Formats: sequence, C-alpha cells, structure tokens
Amino acid sequence: MATDADDRKTFRRILIVEDVKSISNFICRQIESKLGMETVSASSFAETKEILTAETDFFISLLDLNLPDAPDGEIVDYVLSKKIPSVVLTATFDEKVREDILNKNVIDYMIKDGLQSLKHINDLIRRIYRNQYIKVLVVDDSRGFRNYYRKLLTTHKFNVVEAEDGIMALATIDKNPDTRMVITDYNMPKMDGFELVSRLRKKYDKNELAIIGISAQGGGLLSAKFLKSGANDFLTKPFEREEFYARVSQNIEVLEYISELKETATRDPLTKLYNRRYYFEKGDQMFTEYRKKNRPVAVGMVDIDFFKKINDTLGHDAGDNVLKFMSGVLTQAFDKPHIVARFGGEEFCILVCGLDDDKVYEKFENLRVKIENSEIVYHDQVIRMTVSVGIANQPRDTMETMINRADQLLYSAKDEGRNRVVSE
Ligand code: GH3
Ligand code: MG
Ligand code: MG
Repeated sequence: MATDADDRKTFRRILIVEDVKSISNFICRQIESKLGMETVSASSFAETKEILTAETDFFISLLDLNLPDAPDGEIVDYVLSKKIPSVVLTATFDEKVREDILNKNVIDYMIKDGLQSLKHINDLIRRIYRNQYIKVLVVDDSRGFRNYYRKLLTTHKFNVVEAEDGIMALATIDKNPDTRMVITDYNMPKMDGFELVSRLRKKYDKNELAIIGISAQGGGLLSAKFLKSGANDFLTKPFEREEFYARVSQNIEVLEYISELKETATRDPLTKLYNRRYYFEKGDQMFTEYRKKNRPVAVGMVDIDFFKKINDTLGHDAGDNVLKFMSGVLTQAFDKPHIVARFGGEEFCILVCGLDDDKVYEKFENLRVKIENSEIVYHDQVIRMTVSVGIANQPRDTMETMINRADQLLYSAKDEGRNRVVSE
C-alpha cells in the first residue's frame, strides 16, 4: 500500500510554464538565487508536453492559466495528470476562475499583479518543501471529513495520520511522536474534541504541538471552548480552502519560528555546536540518567594547540575557519547520544555516553590522529594543527567534578608536550 511517506519527493526542480518571458525570467531567477532550486521553463503547452514526455521529476510546477496554445487552463489538467503538484498563475481573477482552479486540486493560485506578488511564490515553495517533513494528525469520526482533510493536507505535501475519536487519537500520537499538528473535530464518540485537547496539553505544550479545533456552524461557544481547552486555533465548518491553508500554515510557522529561536539560544553562532549553557542543561540530565542506570559516562575536553599562533600569523578569519573545521570533525566523531559543545574560544567539551573506557580513549585518540593529519586550505594557505585532550572517565557524582577533572588532565596533556590524549 502506498503511504504518504512514499509520496515524499525530494526533487529540487521546479517547472515554470509562462509565455511572457520577463515574468518567467523573473520567477526563475528568484527561485534559483533565493531557494537554490533548479528551474526548467516552457513558454507554451506544446513545449511543456515535449519536456514532460522526457521527464516528470519536478517538485512543483507553476502554470500560467492562459497560454497562446492553451487559452482555457488546459495546461493544468495535463500537468496534474503527470502527478506534478501545481500552482496556477492567473492574470484575471473572478469567482468562476477561482472555483475552476480549486476544483482541479492545485496547491494554490496566484494573481499576477506586478512582480511584487510573484515574490510570494518563493514563500509558497519553501512552505510546501518543508511540509514534506511535517506530520499532521486528523481526528474526526466522519470518514468523509477525514478524507477531505487528508486530501487538502496531502495536496500541500503534509504527512497525514488519522484517528476516528479521541481515544484512538491519543494512541496514534503515541505511535507517531513526531506529529506537529492535530486537527480535531468536536463531536466524536468515546472521547470528544475538548477532552482530547486537554489530554494532549498535559503532555505537549502549545509550542511543540499545534492543535486546531473544528466546530460546526451555530455551535455557539464551541470555538471559545476549544481555545480554553488549550487549542492554538479553530476553524468553523464550512470553511473555504484558503482559510484552511492559512490557519494550518500560520500555526506551523509559529512552531517553526519558536523552534528556531530555541535552536539559536542553544547553539554557538560560529561553529553551530551546542553552547555551554545547553551542555550544562542537557548534559546534566544525560549524566544523571546514565549514572542511575550504572552505565558509563565520560567527559572529554579538547583544546587546539597554539591556536593563538594561527590567529596571529594568518588572521582571525583563518582562526574562525579552523574552529568550523573542528566542529565538523567533532560532530562526525561524536553523534547522538553524545553531546559536543564549544566551551570557550578553542576549547570543546564532549559528553560521551554509554561507551567503555577503552572505546572512549580510542575515539579521542582517533580524533587526535585525524586532526594531526588534516590540512585545512584557507586562501591558498595550508593550515595544520594538533589538539590536546583530557578525559575524565571514573564515576563521579556530578558532571561539574567530571569537567574539572577533564580540565586538569587536559593541562597535563599540554604540560607533557601537547598533541596527546591523557585519561585517568
Ligand atoms: P595552548 O596550546 O596552550 O592551548 O595555546 P593557545 O594559543 O591555543 O591558547 P590561548 O588560550 O593562549 O589562545 C586562544 C586564542 O583563541 C586566543 C583568542 O584570541 C582566540 N580565540 C578565542 N575565540 C576565538 C574565535 O571565535 N575566533 C578566533 N579566530 N579566535 C578566537
Ligand atoms: Mg589552545
Ligand atoms: Mg585555550
């Protein structure tokens, strides 16, 4: 059986069909420069057919509704028949045009009134691209409505899971913990929408899971009650497609914005490694967890040797490049569950979780050798460097004492001549 996940297309090419060259060029340039996606353009129905006979691997197509050789939107049906999600560009707009377009199940339509309006195309493509990685749970006892929401959501490339009541919804979300949004009806057997929202809120806060409650028209206080139960937003049936998409996108965008903020607060801007603050917060949790289970945890402190010399001879920029290089090597060497953080200028702290002493030593020794043998090319200059490492691996009660010990051993490594790993 085909699933939504199978439909995920990672193609990064966009097809543009538009007979006015200036518009077509503008859109192509924008997409290529701002989104880094490839574009293929056609200026007529005939040319489009030629292109799509050879290949149909496009992420999205942008289609002019009125082409010289296809004046009545024939292009839309044709491209959709090739299973390419499409956005319609139209110069004229009225109720009839809107109805016709939406009935064809396109992603969206855009009205061409000046280049400014065309700039929104990028936002739309970016949104659809991200949606591929977002899971939405649809909860409704009516199969018809579930199918309708699913169709709307999959047109925008979301991954969709379904449940027919509150109880089933809770089980489904347990099985799909990566769900970012729940769209729920109110009136359902076994457990209604309000109860579901309150239950979900005990586990997930508004910034990690967005909930949209759907209430029927004339439902009085239903919408207010949804919000009071902890829903982020609501929709009243019947709603227009545009309204549905606007609510869904806006709520997803708030989640993304907050998670980006959180991410920036936990990372060092230069190397993108975790910062000290995050290390202490998350590292303490992990440390306690592993100690409780009597599983090994070690702390490694890595410091670049004579880093100041690199700055002094080649400049601060060269130094920054070295730090970025280090970040790459470290994250490659220590992926999850280990935590890599930048502690100070050229000092890095790594919490190594669940590995025996020998293995920990081996990992750091391999890292040391790898760095010693690396050449970083910076503006025709070849930079070479070494690192010193201190490893604390004897069980201790707090991470702080582990770090202090690793620091002492790092200084021993420096004293003993640098470019070496010293462990307990
Ligand atoms: P040692 O082998 O004893 O560790 O010597 P070192 O030169 O590596 O250590 P020292 O602590 O004397 O110098 C560290 C230098 O790192 C000094 C500081 O200017 C530089 N530094 C700190 N942060 C940054 C940064 O973000 N970028 C660059 N380029 N340099 C930085
Ligand atoms: Mg140093
Ligand atoms: Mg230092």
